[in-house]
Amino acid sequence: MSTQKKALVCGAGGFIGGHLVERLKREGYWVRGVDIKMPEFRKTAADDFTQGDLRDPVLCDKITSDVKFDELYQLAADMGGAGYVFSGDHDAAIMHNSAMVNLNMAEAARKTAIGKLFYSSSACIYPERLQLDTDNHGLKESDAYPAGPDSEYGWEKLFSERLYGSYARNYGMEVHVARFHNIFGPYGTWEGGREKAPAAMCRKVAETPEGGTIEMWGDGEQTRTFLYVDECLEGVRRLMNSDVSDPVNIGSDELISINDLAKMAMSFDSKNITIKHIPGPIGVRGRSSDNTYIQQRLGWRPTSKLVDGMRETYKWIAEQVAQKKAGA
Ligand code: NAD
Repeated sequence: MSTQKKALVCGAGGFIGGHLVERLKREGYWVRGVDIKMPEFRKTAADDFTQGDLRDPVLCDKITSDVKFDELYQLAADMGGAGYVFSGDHDAAIMHNSAMVNLNMAEAARKTAIGKLFYSSSACIYPERLQLDTDNHGLKESDAYPAGPDSEYGWEKLFSERLYGSYARNYGMEVHVARFHNIFGPYGTWEGGREKAPAAMCRKVAETPEGGTIEMWGDGEQTRTFLYVDECLEGVRRLMNSDVSDPVNIGSDELISINDLAKMAMSFDSKNITIKHIPGPIGVRGRSSDNTYIQQRLGWRPTSKLVDGMRETYKWIAEQVAQKKAGA
């Protein structure tokens, strides 16, 4: 009998899911990817790819029942950057679509007795009241309660953390949950309104000639930490191989303002560009990851430097911008 491990990756057409499939293939897994859309920027590395809607429970049963999976990674979610999540216009869709996917996948995993399940939660579950200053000292896992996320996206994530936690308690499932803090890197959405700050800054700088102007929502003093996708996945794999069942931060603690993030992007092409601040959705004032718990439990924490990941991301986005311009 084959000893090759089998993994199911939901959200494999997306940014982190696509990188996760690559990583699992490198580790020797047989991988099935599932997503409502095909990967946008490169061919999937999955052995098998099902294009379908995980809001449909029949599809969820189908993709989990013909293969005995050792591991399930549930990353599918209706999400986007600040422009999508914080405008308020997509609240009902975010709540409905992501909760449906999670309810279906929890149930499908229970029925087919999947070995272990990973769920990608978010730093957006943390209470708004702890993120009112730009000088954020890091959010600890225990800060999640009393709950008070600033977006419906955060509330749905909190609901689904609890959903998988209750399946673990009541049905003896092995569940691992990470709270991702702003993951970035190549092969992610870089235009169209769902892109996050690192990709948005790289695109704006790459599109703008020396001496030009870019627009930025808010005063740019709001702070965040950003984690390069490879290191995020190192954390995910370590978490899956651990006995940690409660939610764990996977994020960087290198705090930067969005103004400085834009300047970092400018530095790769030595461009001088003016930032024009305009009103727009910005989310909380400051957010960082406290990595004490992950260090304690996994003996590991993210250590890569933001500038290194940003350089790789800028390179890839500048290529996309150039290709688009050439094709226009
Ligand atoms: P992404 O949008 O690139 O990937 C999510 C994928 O889910 C998309 O490809 C989308 O098509 C798919 N999807 C959505 N609804 C679906 C449905 N009904 N059926 C099938 N597929 C569906 O996002 P990402 O950045 O790769 O994020 C992956 C996960 O990590 C998400 O759960 C997200 O909430 C979480 N997360 C990401 C970040 C980040 O900074 N990227 C931060 C915190 C949490």
